[in-house]
Amino acid sequence: MIERAQAIAALSENEFDVVVVGGGITGAGVALDAATRGFSVALVERSDYAAGTSSRSSKLVHGGLRYLQNFDLSLVREALLERQLLVALAPHLVRPLPLIVPAFDGARPDRLMGVGLNLYDAMSLDRERLRSRRGESESWSPERHRVIAGEEVLELLPALTARAPTSGYLFYDCQTDDVRLVLTVLGEAERFGAVCANRVQALSVIERDGRACGVRVCDGLDGDELEVRAANVVNATGVWADRLGAPASASAEGDSPPGSSADANDGSELGGGRVPIIRPSRGTHILLRHEDLPLIGGAIVPAGSGRTIFALPWLGRTLIGTTDRDYEGELEHVHSSAQDIDYLLAAINEFFGAAFAPRDLVGAFAGVRPLISSGDPKKSVDISRRAELYEAESGMLTITGGKLTTFRRMAKLTVDRLVARDARDAPCHTHEIPLGQGITADELPRVEGVPETSYAALAGRYGYAAREVLALVGEGSPVHPELAQPIVAGLPDLLAEVALAARREQALTVGDVLLRRTRLGLLAARELGGVGNPIDRVAGVLARELGWDDARTELEVERFAVESEAEGNCPGGDSPEGPDVEDARPDGVRPDGVRPV
Ligand SMILES: Cc1cc2nc3c(=O)[nH]c(=O)nc-3n(C[C@H](O)[C@H](O)[C@H](O)COP(=O)(O)OP(=O)(O)OC[C@H]3O[C@@H](n4cnc5c(N)ncnc54)[C@H](O)[C@@H]3O)c2cc1C
Repeated sequence: MIERAQAIAALSENEFDVVVVGGGITGAGVALDAATRGFSVALVERSDYAAGTSSRSSKLVHGGLRYLQNFDLSLVREALLERQLLVALAPHLVRPLPLIVPAFDGARPDRLMGVGLNLYDAMSLDRERLRSRRGESESWSPERHRVIAGEEVLELLPALTARAPTSGYLFYDCQTDDVRLVLTVLGEAERFGAVCANRVQALSVIERDGRACGVRVCDGLDGDELEVRAANVVNATGVWADRLGAPASASAEGDSPPGSSADANDGSELGGGRVPIIRPSRGTHILLRHEDLPLIGGAIVPAGSGRTIFALPWLGRTLIGTTDRDYEGELEHVHSSAQDIDYLLAAINEFFGAAFAPRDLVGAFAGVRPLISSGDPKKSVDISRRAELYEAESGMLTITGGKLTTFRRMAKLTVDRLVARDARDAPCHTHEIPLGQGITADELPRVEGVPETSYAALAGRYGYAAREVLALVGEGSPVHPELAQPIVAGLPDLLAEVALAARREQALTVGDVLLRRTRLGLLAARELGGVGNPIDRVAGVLARELGWDDARTELEVERFAVESEAEGNCPGGDSPEGPDVEDARPDGVRPDGVRPV
């Protein structure tokens, strides 16, 4: 990505066709789609890219077997087709994952589940694509589900050894790193000319003659306000979608519009027309060491009252989730819920015959779904995950709801509307635009000092761009050979990735690196303040890259401790050490680097 300072300059100097507010997967998708159809695009993200819901998903690119229960058939079908497309567009990032529904004590696998899986198989067939691709190189297509014997269940779910499963259903979905998907889509959008900046908060929508014509924004780093002028405004703020500031009148002279900061920032006003009412629902996930609960494939785990949760292998750990409860707390730092952690632990302890407690977890995180309220008092689990596009009287488009899996469709829906409004002839191309460039670990050059286990992780995270990470190790004068070392001993993420994150991915804080560019803040939350002090090492590299002095570096380490605490990443205590929340905010900047306005 271009440097943030360059992006800010471009935002203030140019007039765009479209400004997208929100740098989660939805905003990233809209930016890419619009840029590839010839629109000039700006994207602003108030916090860090993917810091909202898009870093807190279950990491599945899937149809959602569960939604069949609600007869949300068209949603499942759409998501299954997107799943297949995303594996083709980003094979290094979106990978097939076997999932197993085990049966015990000689029982046959549940018949009803078999019926559902038959439907899932049938719905995932894309006859159109199969026909048009005949003769081309073979793309991934999931095998039909099948019944497997107990031994095969154990090969895929070694953690079930004590329970001796007798058989099970095997089917396939796909898995990703949600943040990396967002960053990759943003990178592609930039390749097509989009200008993206994080730590830029939209305060209000600017209107001229009743039409939205840009957004007034605040640069979260220096507190400066500026106008981003654009013929179209797209609100892709997820769970904040009903909070984008009230429209303010534009003044040709560029005067500050009335109510553009404090008023617009109180989160209570709607965007002057049709915007959805969001009903947030919190989902918590927990992580265990792979050695403690070893899984090769994912397991569908019963969790009482007909609900199920997933236990999944993810980036060398075991990821368990999720829960689904209405949520009324603050949205900035959603804390993993102790009640939900107990619920998840109870379900896996019973299923795997284990006795895990919160202190056994390596990390935890929570996120809120941007569910659209239909006004009826349905439970959040029963509310559709369908996306909705709203058009305000001012012309501002709001796109929200939906799933990570269906972001491309959501973007298409939005940009189709822009195209129709402008009467352009500009069909969508994102179904054929690769997301990054795949590479295998074997194709990467070997660099002295880099552990062999890191190459596969680098290839999976960056694809071809992993070469840039490796190039940083031998670069500079003096060279910094420590960049070849892992951030946390025994895990594959390298210190060189910290440098890359600062240079190429607009990472500005320790949290940006540990929670989102790498996922160590979740995968090794407890180890970060321990042996070798990984937090200090990350801060040290960032200090060199971003020019921090000692006092600033110390402050940034403290801020990360506050952020991790606020997110509940270390359930059962042992957070990375840090001072009180207030102590870490001497300049009023929040732990994630956002300056309150
Ligand atoms: C627990 C859980 C599990 C899930 N699991 C899956 C799954 O396995 N598979 C799947 O397909 N989907 C899953 N989802 C759904 C999926 O994660 C979401 O649908 C998706 O991430 C929403 O993306 P978004 O871009 O719309 O919202 P977000 O990612 O929240 O992005 C909105 C962005 O807007 C920014 N923003 C807000 N206000 C402003 C402003 N004024 N100015 C500038 N920026 C602003 C925010 O900081 C945020 O980054 C899950 C969701 C949850 C909560």
